[in-house]
Amino acid sequence: MWFIRDGCGIACAIVTWFLVLYAEFVVLFVMLIPSRDYVYSVINGLVFNLLAFLALASHCRAMLTDPGAVPKGNATKEFIESLQLKPGQVVYKCPKCCSIKPDRAHHCSVCKRCIRKMDHHCPWVNNCVGENNQKYFVLFTMYIALISLHALIMVGFHFLHCFEEDWTKCSSFSPPTTVILLILLCFEGLLFLIFTSVMFGTQVHSICTDETGIESLQRKKQQRRERRERRGSWKSVKETFGGDFSLNWFNPFSGPRHPKPLSNRDWVRQVSSVSDTENTETTTEEPSEEPKDEDFAEVVDE
Ligand SMILES: [Zn+2]
Ligand SMILES: [Zn+2]
Repeated sequence: MWFIRDGCGIACAIVTWFLVLYAEFVVLFVMLIPSRDYVYSVINGLVFNLLAFLALASHCRAMLTDPGAVPKGNATKEFIESLQLKPGQVVYKCPKCCSIKPDRAHHCSVCKRCIRKMDHHCPWVNNCVGENNQKYFVLFTMYIALISLHALIMVGFHFLHCFEEDWTKCSSFSPPTTVILLILLCFEGLLFLIFTSVMFGTQVHSICTDETGIESLQRKKQQRRERRERRGSWKSVKETFGGDFSLNWFNPFSGPRHPKPLSNRDWVRQVSSVSDTENTETTTEEPSEEPKDEDFAEVVDE
């Protein structure tokens, strides 16, 4: 099973669960159960619990799914020879984990692995967001945004309702405790609504433009011209969420269609001009148009 042993990430993941459970507690025991409107309580309770369950399930799936790690230490002489590189073809070797980096893979210093289509490392899910778990991460941000919005609406109704009625009948807790619990929930809801909806928007945008967070940063930093050919946005969305549009897109238990294992072609990259490669006898830095981030790699050339 995939699990990153990173103290900070584990603490953040526990805090995330704690905050969802706190919201669950206030919604159920402060607002819904003491309410005398039975239908209102049952409907809102069901909706809130379903969304909270889906949010936590997505969180687990995002945390425990291998985001697309490249096999460690596969940059052996024998393996590179077996690829039978032609002139103009190179492979990039990660100096940190000694693996061959396929196109769009990046080294994550927290996971200590190269991750395919790495978007960023998210401490809140204690994992990298990459090719295989981006769907769960997007669902996690979406469901957290939805429960935050739902909780805020319910707090609003509760305040309206309780100002009209007697406060003591409004909750089984004392009025000061009730107000403090509700205000804390409001703060939490607002903070998370803003944070997760921005994240959700960014993720959907990056899937639609088929450009990961890292790639977009590199493009802005270097003002590189468009180099990589992008897939169409619909194709990219379908690949991330698994097939044609269906309810399964919103189901954290249904994985994206299992990515095919890398073939020999995926390891090899074409260098545009042959002159680039002529003076790279054994190992050099990456060609200048390649991303120069913390995981600069070596070129092995035949
Ligand atoms: Zn690496
Ligand atoms: Zn990572």
